[in-house]
Amino acid sequence: MDLDRPALRAALLDAAPWLDATDVGPRAVDAGTCDRCGERPRLLPTCGPGAPEALCRDCAAALGDDAWCDGHRNDGMAARRWADALPDRWEDAVVLWWVATGELRWDARTMAVTEDHPWSDAVRAAIGIGR
Ligand SMILES: [Zn+2]
Ligand SMILES: [Zn+2]
Repeated sequence: MDLDRPALRAALLDAAPWLDATDVGPRAVDAGTCDRCGERPRLLPTCGPGAPEALCRDCAAALGDDAWCDGHRNDGMAARRWADALPDRWEDAVVLWWVATGELRWDARTMAVTEDHPWSDAVRAAIGIGR
């Protein structure tokens, strides 16, 4: 399947401007699954003593202040508020972003996030579907 990575990055930023954040979101963490649940994508970098390195939205909410050190408590609250405001399908956008940046391979697993998702025409064109 044809994949136009630069076009996909541009289309994703247009469809999900929150992907542009650099201190939270998929740009702020290494590509992969949450260090706590191992299911959902990593979303927020954390720094609490003994806390996992990066968490998905649900796990960050579950750990709360414990996921951040005392000095970054306010940052942690801001990060969780930011995550709370994301659309329900944030996980798909995060995975596709990592495909667009080349951090994840474009394979059966990552392609699965494009199923049943109302992606914009530009996103669909960039990943070679709906043409
Ligand atoms: Zn998690
Ligand atoms: Zn800290």
